[in-house]
Amino acid sequence: MADYDYDVLVIGAGPGGYVAAIRAAQLGLKTACAEGRETLGGTCLNVGCIPSKAMLHASEYFEAAAGGAMAAMGIKVKPELDLGTMHGQRKDAVKGLTGGIEFLFKKNKIDWLKGYAQFTSKDSVEVAGKTYRAKNIIIATGSSVTPLPGVEVDNDKQIIVDSTGALELAKVPGHMVVIGGGVIGLELGSVWRRLGAKVTCVEYLDQILPGMDGDVRKEANKIFKKQGIEFKLKTKVTKAVVKGKKAVLTLEPAAGGEAETLEADVVLVSIGRKPNTDGLALDKAGLAVNQRGQIETDHDFSTQVPGIWAIGDVIPGPMLAHKAEDEGIACAENIAGQTGIVNHDVIPSVVYTWPEIAGVGLTEEQAKEKGEVKVGKFPMMANSRAKTNHEPDGFVKVIADAKTDRVLGVWCIASVAGTMIAQAAQAMEFGATSEDIAYTCHAHPTHSEAIKEAAMAVTGKPIHV
Ligand SMILES: Cc1cc2nc3c(=O)[nH]c(=O)nc-3n(C[C@H](O)[C@H](O)[C@H](O)COP(=O)(O)OP(=O)(O)OC[C@H]3O[C@@H](n4cnc5c(N)ncnc54)[C@H](O)[C@@H]3O)c2cc1C
Repeated sequence: MADYDYDVLVIGAGPGGYVAAIRAAQLGLKTACAEGRETLGGTCLNVGCIPSKAMLHASEYFEAAAGGAMAAMGIKVKPELDLGTMHGQRKDAVKGLTGGIEFLFKKNKIDWLKGYAQFTSKDSVEVAGKTYRAKNIIIATGSSVTPLPGVEVDNDKQIIVDSTGALELAKVPGHMVVIGGGVIGLELGSVWRRLGAKVTCVEYLDQILPGMDGDVRKEANKIFKKQGIEFKLKTKVTKAVVKGKKAVLTLEPAAGGEAETLEADVVLVSIGRKPNTDGLALDKAGLAVNQRGQIETDHDFSTQVPGIWAIGDVIPGPMLAHKAEDEGIACAENIAGQTGIVNHDVIPSVVYTWPEIAGVGLTEEQAKEKGEVKVGKFPMMANSRAKTNHEPDGFVKVIADAKTDRVLGVWCIASVAGTMIAQAAQAMEFGATSEDIAYTCHAHPTHSEAIKEAAMAVTGKPIHV
């Protein structure tokens, strides 16, 4: 250790990096974490998962009051929007949680190297003019918004914005156009629709929520349409220009054809995210990125250069905070000589709209490509708790191997789908069959009973339909 400053130096303090740093320190390794942002927590805590959920949660209450859901339960209110306070509670959530990570760093004696790190060799980096040598370096630099050619984002003007700008709008737009029907666009589009904006979502593909189960995508589209979001599918945005206080977008059919224009008060560009590797001077470490700009790793998160590891959004796989966190823990454990493993086949994904949309494992389409499957479905309309709570939209779908009955995927649209999906992930992690889930006693009345009934539908019959 004599000529090393640290056993482990993590670059980036997002959910991948800060978790890796904490686990490394817990395992007795001398650890530092370089972070260029003014606060710890990365995209997730500063401009991603947490602030978006703060706005989703608050706007959900607003809509429940304004849209009649409360009146249906005998609570008559006329809500008045105080957007400043709503933004205030978002900022408080971010401040509290990012401060919490700072506390955990101190508690675990992790040095926060303030500034952006760049490699100077395969075992050293420079941060704010100072060079540090480390036995192990973990790259956890995350991702940032993918730009769209012909559409220039300027978050300060609040006309053409990315997800960070869309969290901060000072007033509710009259018309918001969301470019991209993925998770982030639908979540933030939902926030502003609930608060009063007309929302149009333009998606290049023939359906929203790419990567999710086909039934789920179709049903979600129906639900969002019912809520008032207008969709322009199979359509590409080729240009957006700011004219005064508005933006004018040029849209073209994805397959080619006549262009049309669309006017918006705010345009949200949410077509995806790209790995952050610019400025790292990877060449000095002898590392290169793949065709998608990601750093490739082995199953233990080691890169092709011994002593350099990578985790989170900067490596292949779904760009999700919990995937980054689990990789952070596993990577630190591997560095400490333990066996850290992440099962990439069982990573749940959740869209935090109303209702929530969640899935884990294979889609029905993917499962069918691999072999014969059996599918069980159960509508939330027939779940006593959802029905009582006036939450009839959605279903649960369990996909199992036709021969072995092993569960291959579970998909839910339900008010609390994000919470429900944890049991499916756990069951799959233990190699459960649909029968295992069907014969597990579920508390009544809960939304989770719909998972049990969908599992019952795989091999036999559910009770309540
Ligand atoms: C609006 C939005 C909502 C989201 N909602 C969810 C959600 O609900 N659930 C979910 O699972 N995921 C969500 N995500 C995705 C999630 O935020 C990411 O998957 C997650 O943050 C990735 O973690 P990470 O540690 O790999 O990288 P990041 O969180 O991106 O952190 C990387 C950090 O590295 C720092 N950094 C970069 N380069 C350097 C350098 N050279 N030196 C020092 N520091 C550097 C960056 O400043 C950053 O702080 C959301 C994302 C967005 C944008």
